Amino acid sequence: MVYELAIIGAGAVGALLAREASRAGLKVLVLEAEADVASGSSKANSAIVHGGYAEGPETLKGRLCAQGRARFPELERELGFGFRPIGSLVLARDLPEDRARLEALLARGLANGLRDLRIVEGPELRELEPAASPEYGLALYCAGAGICSPWDLAIAALEAAIGRGAELELRRPVEAVRRIPSGEAPGGGFWELEAGGFAYRALAVANAAGLGAEGLDRLAGLEPPRTGARNGQYIVLDRGTGGLVGHVLFQLPGPLGKGILVTPTYQGNLLVGPDAKELEAAEDPAAMLGSDAERLGRIFESARRVVPSLSLERAIRSFTGLRCAAEDGDFHVGEAEPERAPGWFHALGIQSPGLTASPAIASLLAGQAAAYLGRGPSAAGPGLEEDAPRRPLPPHLSRRPERLPPEAAKAAAALPPGECERLVCRCEQVREREIAECLDREPRCATLDGIKRRSRAGMGSCQGQFCRPRVIEFAQRQLGRELDGRERLRDLEALAAAGRPVARLSGPELRKLGRELEGRG
Ligand SMILES: Cc1cc2nc3c(=O)[nH]c(=O)nc-3n(C[C@H](O)[C@H](O)[C@H](O)COP(=O)(O)OP(=O)(O)OC[C@H]3O[C@@H](n4cnc5c(N)ncnc54)[C@H](O)[C@@H]3O)c2cc1C
Repeated sequence: MVYELAIIGAGAVGALLAREASRAGLKVLVLEAEADVASGSSKANSAIVHGGYAEGPETLKGRLCAQGRARFPELERELGFGFRPIGSLVLARDLPEDRARLEALLARGLANGLRDLRIVEGPELRELEPAASPEYGLALYCAGAGICSPWDLAIAALEAAIGRGAELELRRPVEAVRRIPSGEAPGGGFWELEAGGFAYRALAVANAAGLGAEGLDRLAGLEPPRTGARNGQYIVLDRGTGGLVGHVLFQLPGPLGKGILVTPTYQGNLLVGPDAKELEAAEDPAAMLGSDAERLGRIFESARRVVPSLSLERAIRSFTGLRCAAEDGDFHVGEAEPERAPGWFHALGIQSPGLTASPAIASLLAGQAAAYLGRGPSAAGPGLEEDAPRRPLPPHLSRRPERLPPEAAKAAAALPPGECERLVCRCEQVREREIAECLDREPRCATLDGIKRRSRAGMGSCQGQFCRPRVIEFAQRQLGRELDGRERLRDLEALAAAGRPVARLSGPELRKLGRELEGRG
């Protein structure tokens, strides 16, 4: 079997591309290295749908960010993954140099075609965001920027793509790439990809492998721009704390990124972070994803300057995300080197705002791949056949679900296994039947993390202490087999037992850190 388009990587870019390309009628295969989709940068980021003013139209990043953001309201209607345009504010002091920097951002945004951008100050700013420190007298306000559920974007896009016949193969790390000449194929040949002991053939390949993309380009015989990893740490507060602020609050951007932000999440938590640190190529990947108290302390102090009432009393955990940045800082999207590798497309260096830009990156790649395959240059553009309406998600996944009163919750948690109303997760109030619904949808998942992302079981304040055994027991009963990735769980436990740095700071550790920094330790 020869697929028309093989996509490597099931992050936001690969997933949206799979949807666009399958809507254009292409026979699509997605190969993902991990045991679940959205396992790279797309699962651990700030989840902001950026305004599109941080980079100008002279960069591909600037153009694709603005175009991508414009697609989110329509994508939310079509896929229902979770997007709310709550607006963003870049806060600045009322000083001439800060005003000049805000005006430069405003000018860039206008050049990118944005029309919902303006500078606000004084009482208007206070009214818009009462929680912001009065130290900040000015802000760039972007009304249409917002927050989303990033992994749900990838999951929903793949659900739609699979509904149109796209195939997804998990645990298929592409390890070898060959070009096979063929007079009948467009470009004079096709590609063979070796992944997880299997070989797959495709007329065209889209390399959307995030941090793995540069290496794959090299396997295909190309000389792509160098890329490097940069990590960023975060603090998450419990569900219900998101109301502390009404907007995504940024500080003025610095050389390594958009700075520490304070924002509600789509699910109603409060998110604080990230910082940014470039990593050496030789650095241990486990350490790249770890958190440390020193950096988290600096993040908290920086965020507290913006929101003085911020406290870590309801912090539940830290996490770390890894960005992939090209040496020139821009995105590289399209057919990589048509002469040397016809039909090899890539999305390289997709750092922030890659999530925002992902719908535009996907459209660009789908259009180019369709043209390469002789399906016409606009075959994959927006305006193709509508997808069938998405099967509704369980109601507890909505942002403000009805919560059971304490007595009813206690009774539901005490129900015997097999009762569909039994509470598996007390903090997020997830029932057996809701986990069953999550397991019964494409893209299928059989990992603890995948169930957590789809159902929210384990996302609450106890961080899985109560629900982890219940989830494992129920999911294994439902699937009739062991969950995937249990080995990794055991590895992490072994790592912790051996005294190596644990990947995260827990809620109690963060609360202690907060008290120390507030001088109440
Ligand atoms: C700390 C941080 C904060 C961010 N905040 C924002 C934000 O607020 N807004 C925003 O717009 N963007 C943000 N971003 C950027 C955004 O998260 C990324 O640009 C986006 O998720 C990239 O998606 P992707 O699909 O290109 O890559 P990924 O999500 O990394 O997906 C790549 C996939 O390829 C797979 N893969 C890798 N190698 C192979 C292989 N050999 N074979 C098969 N599969 C392979 C990986 O397992 C992974 O699933 C942030 C990023 C970080 C890290």
